Amino acid sequence: MQSHALKIAPGEIGFDFDGVIADIAEVFLRIACEEHGYCSFTADDITSFQVEECLNMPFPLVEGIFTDILHDSLAAGLKPMPGMVEVIKTMTNQAAVTIITARPQWQPVADWLDNFLPAQTCARINLIAMGDHDGKLDYIRQEGLQYFVDDRTRTCEILYDADITPVIFSQPWNRNRHSFHAVENWQEIRAMVCLADSGSIKK
Ligand SMILES: [Mg+2]
Repeated sequence: MQSHALKIAPGEIGFDFDGVIADIAEVFLRIACEEHGYCSFTADDITSFQVEECLNMPFPLVEGIFTDILHDSLAAGLKPMPGMVEVIKTMTNQAAVTIITARPQWQPVADWLDNFLPAQTCARINLIAMGDHDGKLDYIRQEGLQYFVDDRTRTCEILYDADITPVIFSQPWNRNRHSFHAVENWQEIRAMVCLADSGSIKK
């Protein structure tokens, strides 16, 4: 399905964090190389959401790198996905924006958002850290969202079965594994959300 068929009001759509808002693959691969000497992998090698299933790295090492990133995402060097900052800034001019992450810890994500987004943007972000990859549906319903952008295929299947429209953020670990609406980047998200011109502020 083509994402441009969708026209979504800013307040109707929510976002996952890792793999959508933030470039989790880039920081994982950088730490694997710079700190542990595993330098031969690229993001295209991460063909499963379970990273240890597709990269020839010991599971405890994979787990340890993710634990460090989740514990202090700023110190780990986690970067925004290209274009995210401008689109989220523009969206928050028109509506509160909801981010729902399966991470168990709220504060490192809040600190990261504070670092990369202006204070007035963060004030309009509703951040939920709920700690369960399969449990997002309840929070999406609670927040009254009708669309949700996620990079995990299983999450999108659960939402689809509950009449929430999932939008897959294309990543090597979800490619060719679904038939949902998909976006390749934040420019495509911007195109499917009904936004006033950049810089305009809702009165
Ligand atoms: Mg994700």
